[in-house]
Amino acid sequence: MNHTQSHDLFTRALELIPGGVNSPVRAFKSVGGEPFFAQRAEGAYLQDVDGNRYIDYVGSWGPMIAGHAHPKVLAAVEKTMRDGLSFGVPNALEVTMAEAITAIVPSCEMVRMVNSGTEATLSAIRVARGATGRNRIVKFEGCYHGHGDSFLVKAGSGVMTLGLPNSPGVPSALADLTMTIAYNDFDAATNLFDEIGGEIAGLIIEPIVGNANCILPRDGYLQHLRELCTKHGALLIFDEVMTGFRVALGGAQQRYGITPDLSTFGKIIGGGMPVGAYGGRRDLMAQVAPSGPIYQAGTLSGNPVAMAAGLATLELIQAPGFHDALERTTNVLCDGLEQAAREAGIAFHTTRAPGMFGLYFREGPVETFEDAKASDTARFNRFFHAMLERGVYLAPSAFEAGFVSSAHGEAEIARTIEAARESFATL
Ligand code: PLP
Repeated sequence: MNHTQSHDLFTRALELIPGGVNSPVRAFKSVGGEPFFAQRAEGAYLQDVDGNRYIDYVGSWGPMIAGHAHPKVLAAVEKTMRDGLSFGVPNALEVTMAEAITAIVPSCEMVRMVNSGTEATLSAIRVARGATGRNRIVKFEGCYHGHGDSFLVKAGSGVMTLGLPNSPGVPSALADLTMTIAYNDFDAATNLFDEIGGEIAGLIIEPIVGNANCILPRDGYLQHLRELCTKHGALLIFDEVMTGFRVALGGAQQRYGITPDLSTFGKIIGGGMPVGAYGGRRDLMAQVAPSGPIYQAGTLSGNPVAMAAGLATLELIQAPGFHDALERTTNVLCDGLEQAAREAGIAFHTTRAPGMFGLYFREGPVETFEDAKASDTARFNRFFHAMLERGVYLAPSAFEAGFVSSAHGEAEIARTIEAARESFATL
């Protein structure tokens, strides 16, 4: 493949943008080599500035669940933007969006739109602290909740790729308020709550950990956390920025039958435009300004064009059978990859939920962050490049979940598995 144009752009970018990118994982640091620069995207495909085409399993890191440049999403954006790009006063689409989210996710009785997943999570913990009058936050090793100061403590994919336990610039006085425990460890949670349960404002979790590859909750684990939070008066916050509207229409909370107090969203509800949201119990959300004293605001929050793209995407994913089809596609892909690895005699394992998956160069099962870290990442990196050469773009990190969209059809999956067969043979 020729990458001349991408190389030239990256050289220019490196001079002016830290690491040449506007978000770290894009830089290919963990897999090595240089990123390609996108020209356009359509359906399951990304095309770079040199004209190379890739079957895309990143989907802009989650939003593109209906495929890139879906005509219905583009039409909604085009129609809406003709009336103006931002108003700074309320608009009807914000109300429609709030109605859509609260109808799909019953635990969200009220919702506030923001501009990114990061804003959603840092606003949610402000509500947790403000509503409980407590300061401590509990999170899980390997979970990523955006780059808010309180979360950059043992924070999964992007941070882990750089080998940083915490980011410089986060005051230790603040980091000390974030307690981190092991995901899927029942006793670790029980013990922590027994010790300091009365000081915990909220526990925030990726119910399926998509930022340490793709780790699923053990049976009863999320229920256990629900019970601990209830018992100790802490709020349970599901960070569904990745899993929301993906692993089921109503997200992981629907799939596992758990009712969190607060939830955070992003990605899919913006359909590719910059969006986040947080919502939850009415008595909690009513404490957010201006109906209550907990301050949170945004110049572009509820942006009409972003609402239009998100609403069009939400309409697409409410088609009957949408998530069943996504699950089938994910299973065919993962089964095919495992079969191809077996034929090549390579230790390999996949984890999956509808529309998202994890790849591990080790035998299964993978149920903890330690299990995920024991994957042979050097081998993953070689596999990543072998696949890229064959026109398949996987997430450029061994610790990022992959995403499947409704635009990934039988032909794309078959081509991906064939590329994997060839790639495994080169390892
Ligand atoms: N929470 C989770 C679970 C995420 O995966 C991400 C981003 O990938 C975020 C929060 C932060 O979202 P954003 O990148 O939109 O700020």
